[in-house]
Amino acid sequence: MNHYKGISADDKHKIVAALKARGAGSCPRCRDSQWTVSEYSRIEVQATMDRNSMERTTIPAVMIVCEHCGFISQHALQPLGVWPHGAADDIHTASPLARESMA
Ligand SMILES: [Zn+2]
Repeated sequence: MNHYKGISADDKHKIVAALKARGAGSCPRCRDSQWTVSEYSRIEVQATMDRNSMERTTIPAVMIVCEHCGFISQHALQPLGVWPHGAADDIHTASPLARESMA
C-alpha cells in the first residue's frame, strides 16, 4: 500500500518564498509563469567517470513543474536556505555544491 503524501503545504510555502526571493522567474522552455512545487528528489552524482564509482553522493533538491508545458526543473535545497541540515553534519551533500565564482 502506498502512503505517499508528497511535500507538506508548509514546505511548499517555504520553497515558493525562497524561489521568489531569489528572482526565479518563468519557465525556461515556454516562458509561462505558472509553476508548481512538485516533489523532493535526490540527484545522484559521482566524482569520476568510473562506471562503478564508489565515490558518489546525492544532492538534495526539489522539482518544479511548469503548469503549461510540464518542463521539470530542479533546485538544490541548500542554496535556497531550506535544507534543514547543516553542511557540517552532512559533508557529502556539501562537496558537490562547492562554491565557484565566475568573477
Ligand atoms: Zn513551460
